[in-house]
Amino acid sequence: MTENTNNDRSTHIAFIGLGNMGGPMAKNLLQQGYTVTVYDLSEAAQQQLAQAGAITSTSPQEAIEDAEVVITMLPASKHVKTVYLGDAEAIELTSDGLLSHLAKGTLVIDSSTIDASVAKEVSSIALAKGIDMVDAPVSGGTAGAEAGTLTFIVGGEDSAFNRAQPILQAMGKNIFHAGSNGAGQVAKICNNMLLGILMSGTAEAINLGVKNGLDPKVLSEIMLQSSGRNWTLEVYNPYPGILDNVPSSRDYTGGFMSQHMHKDLHLALQAAKDIGVQVPMGSQATALYDEHIKQNSEKDFSSIMGHFDDSVLTQ
Ligand code: NAD
Repeated sequence: MTENTNNDRSTHIAFIGLGNMGGPMAKNLLQQGYTVTVYDLSEAAQQQLAQAGAITSTSPQEAIEDAEVVITMLPASKHVKTVYLGDAEAIELTSDGLLSHLAKGTLVIDSSTIDASVAKEVSSIALAKGIDMVDAPVSGGTAGAEAGTLTFIVGGEDSAFNRAQPILQAMGKNIFHAGSNGAGQVAKICNNMLLGILMSGTAEAINLGVKNGLDPKVLSEIMLQSSGRNWTLEVYNPYPGILDNVPSSRDYTGGFMSQHMHKDLHLALQAAKDIGVQVPMGSQATALYDEHIKQNSEKDFSSIMGHFDDSVLTQ
């Protein structure tokens, strides 16, 4: 295969994992004129992309036929290992893994949020086979995925980063090169540990005001113009009815599932433990989500509001 800079919209992209994030990301690539073949375990998700102009497939192996670039947007480490190495528990590449089938020179972009050590392990197998691979987890939520304004946090070699950049620009606004393979995942879990802390703290503060007789909307406006201002208050308020078009105002559906925030907090705690760093606030937020996902794993992560005021979960 000839080296392709990917500036060229004729680049053929395989996109695997069409959930809350991957679906709109793949749609943006189609809108920018790329040829996109999609695959997801969910037939309904594939059909949605077919309506937007994607070519559907029946397996990851079929999806990557003719692809010069592969993008994955999967839930967690085990799904990434299943797709690339052929088995969730694989310690080496098996014949079912995509890395056994990809042509030398293919560019692989994994945008899932996963364990940095898994990102390093999979990318080192890819590199040994002459396949360029970057970890490129995202920030910006489903709204950013739909608007094409995601932040990509990339780990990988300079040459692979340069190849990935034009494609990432079709789905995002800010593209950061955090360092070598795995560095994107480390930066991403630092961010999401802080997000878990901020969301829990914002829900706790709103609940304190509401239980003291304050109107949650008035309290939110006060805190937004005061020193408690933060992203969750500004664009993702966890209390129902304060902001339109956020998960809390549609029964906590869509968005970023609590089980994914729970996964990310545990990734952060493990990373801290591995090197002996203290994360007391991250540990508190993790304990809250450990409890919360027992009943609310598929609800958006802002449903942690229900941990403090369970009436919001039944509105
Ligand atoms: P999701 O659960 O909505 O989507 C994941 C998709 O992957 C599903 O459609 C599922 O069917 C598919 N899938 C699972 N295993 C597969 C396999 N073996 N082959 C093909 N498809 C498979 O998750 P999401 O919200 O889109 O998140 C994806 C990743 O992005 C996660 O790692 C998450 O932590 C991260 N993330 C999510 C958000 C958000 O706001 N939702 C924001 C930033 C990062």
